[in-house]
Amino acid sequence: MDISWIPGQADAVVVAVASVAVLGGVVAAWWTRSRASRPSEPLAGSSPAPPPEAPLDAGAADSRGSAVVVDVPEDIDDRFSRRRSRLGGALGERLAGFFGRRELGQDAWDELEEALLLADVGAAVTEQIIVEVRARVQGGDESPKEAVRAAILAAIDPDADRSLHVGVAGAGDLAPVLVVGVNGVGKTTTVGKLSRVLVAQGYSVVLGAADTFRAAAADQLETWGVRVGVTTIRADVDGADPASVAFDATQAAQREGVDVVLIDTAGRLQNKAGLMDQLGKIARVVTKVAPIREALLVLDATTGQNGLAQARVFAEAVPLTGIVLTKMDGTAKGGIVLAVQRVLGVPVKFVGLGEGADDLAPFDAEGFVDGLLGD
Ligand code: GDP
Repeated sequence: MDISWIPGQADAVVVAVASVAVLGGVVAAWWTRSRASRPSEPLAGSSPAPPPEAPLDAGAADSRGSAVVVDVPEDIDDRFSRRRSRLGGALGERLAGFFGRRELGQDAWDELEEALLLADVGAAVTEQIIVEVRARVQGGDESPKEAVRAAILAAIDPDADRSLHVGVAGAGDLAPVLVVGVNGVGKTTTVGKLSRVLVAQGYSVVLGAADTFRAAAADQLETWGVRVGVTTIRADVDGADPASVAFDATQAAQREGVDVVLIDTAGRLQNKAGLMDQLGKIARVVTKVAPIREALLVLDATTGQNGLAQARVFAEAVPLTGIVLTKMDGTAKGGIVLAVQRVLGVPVKFVGLGEGADDLAPFDAEGFVDGLLGD
């Protein structure tokens, strides 16, 4: 029926159509935003998470009823460069003498070797770097400093794929990420910081508190989650089976169409067989729901070569895909990045550069060498 001749009725129809369109747009925008950072429904057995679209100063509550502020994580793009100076430049200081030399005699090469070993680079990579530096300075134009920079960079493998393989945000294809490491290295903190990294990139995230042996770990993780509007799945009792928590978290995330489930695991290392059993079981139950995309080993960079022994044990227990080195802002000597990559054959993907919520940065090889050398 042509109604354009009837002015009153035509206006009413136009208004009605426009209203439906506007309402539809608002609902669509809300749905897109809410999917970007949390599951659409509260998950069974989970702690309530506040909506991400809550204003910065809006109050929310965690499962203990404490008031929480949902904050917006810092963009990840220039996180590393902003914190680069925290690496301290100790290697550059130790090499000041070597860089200033006109003649490179045996004592100069010994000086370089000692500085690299003291920086935790490890014997094998130190040897490789010295061979490369010799070739470069003998080759002509490069100063000792330029040659050292280039040789360290080459040993770090600047072209390695350091991205987190968690698919595309909102694609509905769940990516389970296991986070492993011994107690005290900063594992739970890293899971919390990683959730912020993912939320900053638009991923929806669920946390699985499978470190059920350390009493405070689940509370600690939940606090991280609530701050950024992410749900935590945890056991009702301390000491529950870690694999069952990991399974519940993965299943809940799958059911809700979440992008990534980050699973914090127990890090007690009283014996290797027990650890392997436990991690193997977690990996098996998670894989029943969705294939594990990343298994990240968290290592405390200040433990130097001791950390490498731990790393080997974990690498046997679960096939690792990446390393997170924490506490690089402390007394860490930095060279451990090169040593651990060599030992495990997987790249360092993130580094912890402080205790702040957003002090976890994607590893940047060039920036790292500059930070070590103090440039
Ligand atoms: P977990 O036992 O491995 O889960 O260790 P936690 O996550 O509880 O962390 C142990 C301590 O390390 C905490 O005090 C953290 O704040 C601290 N920590 C974690 N990462 C970093 C970092 O990158 N830099 C510094 N300075 N401290 C960190």
